[in-house]
Amino acid sequence: MLFETPDLLAVGWLANREREKRHGAQAYYNYNIRIEATNVCEASCLFCSFARLKPGDDQAYTMSLDEVWDKLRRRAAQPLTEVHVVNGLDPHLPFDYYTEMLRGFKRIRPEIHLKCFTAIEIAYFSDLYRMSDEQVLRALMDAGLDSLPGGGAEIFAERVRKKICHDKADADRYLAIHRLAHRMGMKTNVTMLYGHIETHEERVDHMLRARALQDESGGFQAFIPLAFHPDNNQMRKLPAPSAAETLRVHAVSRLMLDNIDHIKAFWVATGVEVAQTALWFGADDLDGTVQEEKIYHMAGSTVPEAMTTREISRLIRAAGREPVERDTFYNVVAHA
Ligand code: SF4
Repeated sequence: MLFETPDLLAVGWLANREREKRHGAQAYYNYNIRIEATNVCEASCLFCSFARLKPGDDQAYTMSLDEVWDKLRRRAAQPLTEVHVVNGLDPHLPFDYYTEMLRGFKRIRPEIHLKCFTAIEIAYFSDLYRMSDEQVLRALMDAGLDSLPGGGAEIFAERVRKKICHDKADADRYLAIHRLAHRMGMKTNVTMLYGHIETHEERVDHMLRARALQDESGGFQAFIPLAFHPDNNQMRKLPAPSAAETLRVHAVSRLMLDNIDHIKAFWVATGVEVAQTALWFGADDLDGTVQEEKIYHMAGSTVPEAMTTREISRLIRAAGREPVERDTFYNVVAHA
């Protein structure tokens, strides 16, 4: 019904009422950098424009640890609060590439929050290095991992996963890893890739599964709808979701996920203007400054690769909301 009614403004009004009950006029953002250390990936998700199968393929890259650490070193003087890392599923790297990466970040900035590796990457590490999910998470936490990002959820429904991402961890494994991470004391996020071949019922099913896990473990901080981008991938014949669809998905997310505090409009995925508008359609968070994002840019995103905190603040004010810089746990960041 909420996905089908032509009265988008009514859906938005209802979502905005919920959003304002929780967060008033505040709209959050954080000062983060995003690093994609390798785009070599064994999987073949049809919507992905980022992955390359083998080292040496056109545009394939794998950064050395020094190159990865340099991304943070170059900004070490800036008041960044979070490093966000996601990668392809690269069969050539040893496990200590990842543990050393985390240790190196903490050597450069001991207090920085490390939000790294999707549940899909965690499942891949367990299988590749013959460890349990718990052993992988424990080793990464011992090396400095603080939380998991929400990527890789796509759409939980098996029908869709079989078609668009058949050779990576399934929905049950994704959810089991988040459950385990919550039990081990970590917070995580959960995403939903929308606007491709999924039905409205499959979107609702996705949200209900996230909601059920949240009831059980309480560890999701934010739900992040991610718009499908059709450039340079195997689903390029499909149109991208419209702005109206994007606003509706954020609004329905706010209404359905009453047990998840934050709905994020990831500006790199939605586009800046739609993200601003989404702040009136249920979203209360625009993610962060990001820097050098590759996954969406290789799929045709035309937004800038980074914004300064001042630019994000200005965009939030221009949208009629009150900008609040937060850390990963939504504590307000006050600068001296
Ligand atoms: S979405 Fe992730 S797992 Fe899938 S092909 Fe791209 S990089 Fe690999």
